[in-house]
Amino acid sequence: MELFQLKRAADVKQALDMAQSAAAGPQNAPAVRFLAGGTTLLDLMKLDVERPTHVIDIHRLALDQVETIEGGGVMIGATVRNTDLANHPLIKTHYAVLSQALLSGASAQLRNMATTGGNLLQRTRCVYFRDTATPCNKREPGSGCAAIEGFNRNLAILGTSEHCIATNPSDMNVAMTALEATVHIEGPQGKRSLAIDDFFLLPGNTPERETALNPGELITHVTLPAPAPGNRSAYLKLRDRASYEFALASAAVVASVSSGKIDHIRIALGGVGVKPWRSHEAEAALLGRAPDAAAFAAAAEAALQSARPQSQNGFKVELAKRCIQHALTLATQTA
Ligand code: SF4
Repeated sequence: MELFQLKRAADVKQALDMAQSAAAGPQNAPAVRFLAGGTTLLDLMKLDVERPTHVIDIHRLALDQVETIEGGGVMIGATVRNTDLANHPLIKTHYAVLSQALLSGASAQLRNMATTGGNLLQRTRCVYFRDTATPCNKREPGSGCAAIEGFNRNLAILGTSEHCIATNPSDMNVAMTALEATVHIEGPQGKRSLAIDDFFLLPGNTPERETALNPGELITHVTLPAPAPGNRSAYLKLRDRASYEFALASAAVVASVSSGKIDHIRIALGGVGVKPWRSHEAEAALLGRAPDAAAFAAAAEAALQSARPQSQNGFKVELAKRCIQHALTLATQTA
């Protein structure tokens, strides 16, 4: 691990000021990272994948609340722990898909430490990204992608490029995508907000850039819109073992049914996309239809139509289709 300077910020302004002065400092190529739960960053620092010169501890910032907002939605602070978010009464009651997704991820110990902001910034579990002895465009731009000809069983089939085929590993991000979350950011240029689908970037030819977050910017909170009337939701995660494992395929569904027809539907997929994958195609195939097996099968087909499997992960196409169909059944059977 490289040497780095550690500072602790008392509030958002101080954290941003610290980041700005570190970035402007005399050090050659300063790299600044904010530290909250540390469940991703510290691992990657020990592996020499992340080599910050300055670490700013933000875990004491007053961003640890879940509150209702005008219009009926909720605001989730960036340092709210995953366990607290999953078990919060507002989330369990009105955004069950988010609670289910959070509780399906990692282990109890990790969920007790991991934060909302950190989960949004979780890095891929591609084995080559974490192994500095191998080429990886995400870790070292221009070095190549060892996964395309190598071990790619757990990697993406949607949204890939010739430069990177890594999946986003988060469960929380999939549920937040189905819930149409907004990510709120503060930085040297002020405040801005991004729809979660715009927050995550496709790899294209710059896989090292995973989100729209700029250097020196800090996620302060996430908002979720008011739940659609009468909606039901479900998160289904398929994986190699029952716990402490990343998804091979997962689906988050938010749906409401009125007069026997689906009148609101949001579907996002995990484990198969290079980012949390909103499937507008599947939604279009379902809207206005009766919630039955034929409609669910059509939605699953539509969702995977553009899939491009690699040498070892062709099975994910069928797995994701079945995952979507089962999640739709779970979400609509009582809707
Ligand atoms: Fe690196 Fe992406 Fe290739 Fe994995 S898939 S080796 S993260 S470039």
